[in-house]
Amino acid sequence: MNRKKYPPDWKSIALAVKDKADWTCQECQRPCRRPNESWDEFKYRLAKKSKALYLECCEKKIRFVLTTAHLDHDTTNNAASNLKALCSVSAIILATLSSIIL
Ligand SMILES: [Zn+2]
Repeated sequence: MNRKKYPPDWKSIALAVKDKADWTCQECQRPCRRPNESWDEFKYRLAKKSKALYLECCEKKIRFVLTTAHLDHDTTNNAASNLKALCSVSAIILATLSSIIL
């Protein structure tokens, strides 16, 4: 991520998108770790929801990190309709599909 390509207030823009999505991936509905939530706290919360997700998190916790994606890949287009909260898995799928289509 090249920070120079993002607006100075990107951190707060991205945080607002993630908060609005309730820290859940808007593509695959995967719950993601919230800020200031330890991995142990998060895994406990996950275990109450789904044993499969808990086990997956123990194996690959990076999959439970929420990102804010620009759907058109233009980091200057910060319109709400262009931003989506995606888990790292969904973000990679979006990037891969976009590179195939473009
Ligand atoms: Zn996802």
